[in-house]
Amino acid sequence: MSRKRKIDSECRIFNEQWTYDYFFTQYKERAVCLICQDIVSVFKEYNLRRHYETQHKDKYDWLEM
Ligand SMILES: [Zn+2]
Repeated sequence: MSRKRKIDSECRIFNEQWTYDYFFTQYKERAVCLICQDIVSVFKEYNLRRHYETQHKDKYDWLEM
C-alpha cells in the first residue's frame, strides 16, 4: 500500500550545490538560471544540468574549478 515515496518531495528541495555546478539559484518555488534568467520549474538535477549543458556549457566550461 505504501507506494508513495519520499523522492517526490525531495525533488522539490533546491540543492545549493546546483548554483556552483549549473549556475542556478532559487527564486520562490523555481530555479532560475543566473546566466540567461531562464526558469526551470522542477527541482531536478537532470533538468538543470541539461539546461546548462545545452545552453551554456561551451561558454562557461572554462570557469570550472
Ligand atoms: Zn541559462
